[in-house]
Amino acid sequence: MGESATMLLRGGLVVPMTERGVAFSGDVLLAGGTVSAVAARLDPPPDATVLDVSGCLVLPGFVQAHVHVVQSLARHRAEALELLPWLTERIWPYEAALSTGEVAAAARLGIAELLCGGTTAAMDMGTTHNQDAVFAAADQLGIRFASGKCHMDTGDGVPAGLLEDCDASLAAAEELGVRWHGAAGGRLRYAVAPRFVLSCSPELLAGAVALARRHGWQLHTHTSENVRETQLVHELTGRGNVACLADVGIAGEDTVLAHAVHLDDAEVALLASTRTGVAHCPGANLKLASGIADLPRLLREGIRVGLGADGPPCNNRLSIFHEMSLAGTLHNLRGGAGAVDAWTVLELATWRGAEAIGLGGRVGRLAPGYRADVVVLAVESWAMEPAGDPAAMIVHGAADRDVRHVVVDGAVVVRDGALATADGAAIRRAARTAAASLEHRLGWT
Ligand SMILES: [Zn+2]
Repeated sequence: MGESATMLLRGGLVVPMTERGVAFSGDVLLAGGTVSAVAARLDPPPDATVLDVSGCLVLPGFVQAHVHVVQSLARHRAEALELLPWLTERIWPYEAALSTGEVAAAARLGIAELLCGGTTAAMDMGTTHNQDAVFAAADQLGIRFASGKCHMDTGDGVPAGLLEDCDASLAAAEELGVRWHGAAGGRLRYAVAPRFVLSCSPELLAGAVALARRHGWQLHTHTSENVRETQLVHELTGRGNVACLADVGIAGEDTVLAHAVHLDDAEVALLASTRTGVAHCPGANLKLASGIADLPRLLREGIRVGLGADGPPCNNRLSIFHEMSLAGTLHNLRGGAGAVDAWTVLELATWRGAEAIGLGGRVGRLAPGYRADVVVLAVESWAMEPAGDPAAMIVHGAADRDVRHVVVDGAVVVRDGALATADGAAIRRAARTAAASLEHRLGWT
């Protein structure tokens, strides 16, 4: 990937996300991989590259709190199914079939899409095997990435190829974490990722917690996505899903729970009191008919929330713009117009999402000392005219097509709308070839 250099982004409309409603014409100076200065006018240091971004919006890179890039090759191939059959009939057989090369092709496609859509940081969950290929893709393409192999050692409908031995699964994660946590100058992090309660024995859940806490790595899992899943957890454990996870220690500031759609009052209180992070994934929840998480309530209770597209086969895109638009409109059905206003949505997609995935104070704002993760949006598509409130433009008008430049850790990873760190056409070709081979082996064609 490109080198971190001193760079002046000159003359954009800066939306620093340091305060709601603030936007001003100005310059942003990046140096040594961090934001060095933000002001109406800055003189470039002699060694600086000057990038003219006049007429563009300049804002912190977007953060997604829950994705699965490894699922990218099953995109458009797992339609019209609810969560449990979606997993058992399509996603798990697909994941079980993935070779090392196919994991790499899937991860490269997903990460390229994330970066070209302005997402500079993500919390990701892999499959049970070949996780090195996911980290290698994130390393090369230049995204800020927390990920981990997923853990599965029990459950109905789990193919033999994914069913792990508890101790071997945990040992594999520890090896991966030692290898990748803190790599690429801290851009890559390890997150211990038991898949969900239904596919993990109590011993595996407890071991995952012990592993994460021993090393100071994050925990990342799914909870209360679907009514049937939530019922099954209750039948199995006699506890609510969030409560069951908290019982074994999967709660707290180092934990990200995806979905949290079907919660009782005690579970909402538990999320708030433990400061557990929640990934709100409205696109996936609609596609799989899972339900609508009560985002306004989660925010009222002070729960730390970020947004996530989840997997390409349950969305079918990894676009933060799609999730922002949904988060800013869906909750009007229950809460009335403006239930979650555009500035709040933009906070969820930047600094609040960063806080939810353990990057608080380092990512999600354009302010001195923050990492140099920046997205520059052109204001040229029809839906961006005529310019108005910047948050309304970004949340309700913009799309991936508006992303012009993207910088991560001070390095340009997308330039003029094209991936700068790898050959985008080669990534697409590899993905098509791998998807065709998988379809053939899985009998999907
Ligand atoms: Zn997921």
